[in-house]
Amino acid sequence: MSEAQVIDGKAFAAKLRERVGEQAAKFEAASGRKAGLAVVLVGEDPASQVYVRSKHKATVAAGMESFEHRLPADTSEADLLALVEQLNVDPAVDGILVQLPLPDHLDEQAVIAAISPDKDVDGFHVTNAGRLAVGQSGFVPCTPLGCMMLLTDRLGDLSGLEAVVIGRSNIVGKPMAQLLLDANATVTIAHSRTKDLPGVVKRADIVVAAVGRAEMVKAEWLKDGATVIDVGINRLPPAEGADKGRLVGDVDYAGAQGVAGAITPVPGGVGPMTIAVLLRNTVVAAFRNEGLDLPEGTI
Ligand code: NAD
Repeated sequence: MSEAQVIDGKAFAAKLRERVGEQAAKFEAASGRKAGLAVVLVGEDPASQVYVRSKHKATVAAGMESFEHRLPADTSEADLLALVEQLNVDPAVDGILVQLPLPDHLDEQAVIAAISPDKDVDGFHVTNAGRLAVGQSGFVPCTPLGCMMLLTDRLGDLSGLEAVVIGRSNIVGKPMAQLLLDANATVTIAHSRTKDLPGVVKRADIVVAAVGRAEMVKAEWLKDGATVIDVGINRLPPAEGADKGRLVGDVDYAGAQGVAGAITPVPGGVGPMTIAVLLRNTVVAAFRNEGLDLPEGTI
């Protein structure tokens, strides 16, 4: 049995960011301003701080404007909603991202609902979820859109392929299933109550694992030659003497390499795609907000 090909999300994301940079330059030439992304961070969650910092760096590197709003953990919902409203009407802001999770006293759904759907570059607003469900153009959540780009790059036409998505979250599993359905795959969504998960996974030409359980999907569950997209990011307990454990996905990567046709590694697979797609969505938002034609399909 030959080894699975490694789907290099890091390299793909770097190329995508380059293309986004080219589009951002075209946008600036056409509109006289840079495309702008506003990121709102409430509180001091260390992981969120790292994400926000890397989003800022990537936005600037792509030739776009980054507006960072850092608010104290005890910010009231009224103050946060007022900031979102201010960003909604700010013509320099094309995309708005409120970093999740929010502190417990803030209602995430209410905050997401307050973002203008035309600036909702995360694609979490119900209007954009609805647009995706009925096949209208809107904004699609970054992680599943990134997975889809990797899949079509590897497989081309997905028509008639059996796809199994494990996980049904609004952020990954559900939009992923919608995208696969739009691409004419035969889609199954598996979740925590699914009976005989190994049997369900066995029939899949495409497996997307988005659960959040370290190495849960075993090599023997996979069909020979399956394409495996591992969205999970899990930290193992530290080995003795180390302060941090290794990062692993939801799939037993080492085992799966002997069975799968292709597989994304963790880290270096889906992870780097998420920010690249966020930048892509922001430049698309900029063209749309200015009423300019985006050379669609180019990014
Ligand atoms: P979530 O917790 O919202 O959803 C997990 C899903 O897994 C649920 O729908 C649940 O039904 C399902 N599930 C739980 N236990 C299961 C089991 N035993 N068998 C089958 N299904 C089961 O998580 P999420 O936000 O969708 O994220 C999933 C994973 O993806 C996490 O590890 C997260 O860190 C990672 N993630 C990565 C990126 C990225 O950029 N690479 C982005 C988002 C999420």
